[in-house]
Amino acid sequence: MSGYESHIASIASQRNRMRDLIIQWANINSGSRHVAGLEKMAAVVVEDFAGLHATVERIALPAQSVVAADGTLHQVPLGPAISMVKRPKSRRRVFLGIHADTVYSPANPFQKACETSPGKLTGPGVLDAKGGLAVLLLALETLEKSPWAGNIGWEVLINPDEEIGSPGSGPILAAAARRNHLGLVFEPALPNGNLVSDRKGSGNFTFIVRGRSAHAGRDITVGRNAIAALAEAVVRINAVLGRMDAVSVNVGQIEGGTALNVVPALALCRINVRVEAQEQQARVRSHLETIAADISGREGFSAQVLGDFHAPPRAADAAMLLWLERACACGAELGLNISWQGSGGTCDGNRLAANGLTTLDTLGPVGGEIHSPQEYLLLDSLVPRASLAALLLLKVAAGEYGCSGT
Ligand SMILES: [Zn+2]
Repeated sequence: MSGYESHIASIASQRNRMRDLIIQWANINSGSRHVAGLEKMAAVVVEDFAGLHATVERIALPAQSVVAADGTLHQVPLGPAISMVKRPKSRRRVFLGIHADTVYSPANPFQKACETSPGKLTGPGVLDAKGGLAVLLLALETLEKSPWAGNIGWEVLINPDEEIGSPGSGPILAAAARRNHLGLVFEPALPNGNLVSDRKGSGNFTFIVRGRSAHAGRDITVGRNAIAALAEAVVRINAVLGRMDAVSVNVGQIEGGTALNVVPALALCRINVRVEAQEQQARVRSHLETIAADISGREGFSAQVLGDFHAPPRAADAAMLLWLERACACGAELGLNISWQGSGGTCDGNRLAANGLTTLDTLGPVGGEIHSPQEYLLLDSLVPRASLAALLLLKVAAGEYGCSGT
C-alpha cells in the first residue's frame, strides 16, 4: 500500500466515533414517508459533515404520485435531498451517494439503536444505510486530509426516497451520473463482505379493475364484480413466474370492495416485477396490458395498468469489472478478502449505471437482516470499509487509478 498507509491509519481510531454517529442517526426516525424526520435527519447530517467544508444545498423534491386505495392518484410529499459539492471544476469527478430514508415508519416499534452484544449494533437503518453514511464521511475526511485532495472534485447526494424507488431524486441522480466519472454508493456490503456486480431491474405497478356496484341481494346480476375480475387477473399475472426466464413477479398487495352487501365496483392490486434484461421490461408490460385489455373487453368492466420500471437492470460491463477488481485489490492490500457477486436487489447504483456512470454500490459496512426488526451492523467492519473506500479515493486522486474523462 506504499505511500497511502499513513493517510489511512487515522481511520482506525474512529470506530467509536462512527458508532456514535450511526446511533445518533438511527435514533432519528427517517422512514421514507416521514417528512419531519427526514428534515431533522438532513439538518443533523449537514452539521456532522460540516468539517468537509463543501458547498451544501438542501434540495426540495417534487411530491410523488401514488395510486390510492380508491384508484385515484394522490400527491405524497417527500423529504429533502442534501447535495454537497467540492471542487466541481476538477478534471476527475467522483460521485458519492447514500440514502437517508429507512423502511421503518414512526409507527414501527423498532426505533432505537443499541449494542445488543459486543460489536453488534442493532437498530433501524443502522446498516441500511446509516452505517454507509458514516463510512462515506470517513472516506471523504481521509481524502481531504491527504496531499492529493486537490486533484479530484466530488459531490455527495444524500437522498430521502431510495427505499421507495427514488421517485423524486431519480432525475438528480441521472444528472449527477452524467457529470461524474466514477460512482461510489454506500449501500451495505453483502453479509460475506462482497460487493455487488450485476443487479436485476425493478418496477412497481398498480393493476386497477373497475366494475359496477349494485345491491348484492336485489340486483346482483346488474353488478359487475371488480374483485372477482381482479382475482382472475392476479392468477394470470402470477403465471409469469417460471414462464419468462429470470423474471419474477410479486403481487404484494390487494385492495377492493366496501360492504358485504355491495357488489364491489373497484379492486386493485400492487405488483413488484424484477427483470434481468432491459427487453424483459417490455414483455412484462405488454403481458399486463394484454390482461387489462381482456378485462376491458367485457361488458361493464374496465382495467388499467399504472406504474413503471424505476430501476433498470445492470449487467456488469468491462468498466464495472475493472472497478470491482480495483476494489478487491484495495481490499487485499488492507487484508480484506472480498470478491463480487450478482444480486436480485436494486439500488441507486442501477439508476446511476443506466445514465452511464460506472458505480461501485455496496461500499457500506457488513451486517444483516436489513428491512427487519433484527437489522444489525457489525461494528468491527466500520474501520475496514472506511479504509477501503478511502484507499480507492486516494488512488483515484493520486492518479494511480484513472477514470474515464481524465
Ligand atoms: Zn439501502
